[in-house]
Amino acid sequence: MMEMSGKETFSFLMRFLLLIAALAALILVLHGAFARLDSRSAAGQVSAIPLPPQVIIDPGHGGADPGALSPSGTAEKDLNLRVAKALGAFLEEAGVRVLYTRTDDVMLTYPDSSTKKQGDLMGRVGIAQANPDALFVSIHMNTLPQEQYSGLQVFYARDNTGGRVLAQTLQNLVREHLQPDNRREVKAAGSSIFVLDRIENTAVLVECGFLSNRDEAALLSDETYQNKLGYVLSRGVLEALAGGTEQKN
Ligand SMILES: [Zn+2]
Repeated sequence: MMEMSGKETFSFLMRFLLLIAALAALILVLHGAFARLDSRSAAGQVSAIPLPPQVIIDPGHGGADPGALSPSGTAEKDLNLRVAKALGAFLEEAGVRVLYTRTDDVMLTYPDSSTKKQGDLMGRVGIAQANPDALFVSIHMNTLPQEQYSGLQVFYARDNTGGRVLAQTLQNLVREHLQPDNRREVKAAGSSIFVLDRIENTAVLVECGFLSNRDEAALLSDETYQNKLGYVLSRGVLEALAGGTEQKN
C-alpha cells in the first residue's frame, strides 16, 4: 500500500464522506419512490374491487355427471357449456357483468355434502345465494324415452315472479326467432328442480331442446345454432336487466 500525505488523506476522507452522502440521498429518493408505488398499487386495488355480477350463467352438469346423452353419445354437459358461453359472450359484449358457475368440464363442490351430486348442486346454490341480486340462468338439455318430442322450454321457480316474467320473455323470443312451431308453455318447477327451489334470485332454467330427438340433438350440437340460441337468450336477459320485461300471452 502507498503512503498518503496529510493532504491526500484529507481529500480521500472528503471523497469518502461525499460518497456516503450520495448513497444516503439515493436511498432516500428510492424509498420515496417505492412508497409512492406502494400507495399507487393500494389505490389500484381499491378501485379494482369487482362489482357484483348482474347475471349468473349456470351450465348444468359437468365432470363425472354428463347429464342427458344424445343417441350418438353427445353429452348434455358439453352442449350446456357451449350454449352458456355463447350467451355469456353476447351479454359481456353488451357490457353485462357475467359470472359462470363453471367454465370447464367439472362438478362443483360444497362442504359437508353427502354425495358428489349434492355437492355439485349446492355449489350452484351457494353461488346464487352469494349474489342475490344477479339474474340466474341455468342451461340444460332435455331427454325423453320417446324420440318425437322436441322444442325449447323455460322453467321458473314457483312464487318467483321475476323468474316467471323472464321465462315468458325467453320462451316468446325463441318462438319468434328460432322455433316458430314451438307450442311449449313456460312451466313452474316444483322441488324437482333443486337449484331453482333453493334460491331467491330471479331465476330460470332453460331446457334448450331434446337430445332424445335426433334432429334436435344435431341442431343443438351445431355451433351456428348454439350461437343463435345464445344470442336470442341474451336479448331476453338484457330486456329483464333493463326492467323492460312485461308478461305477454
Ligand atoms: Zn340437465
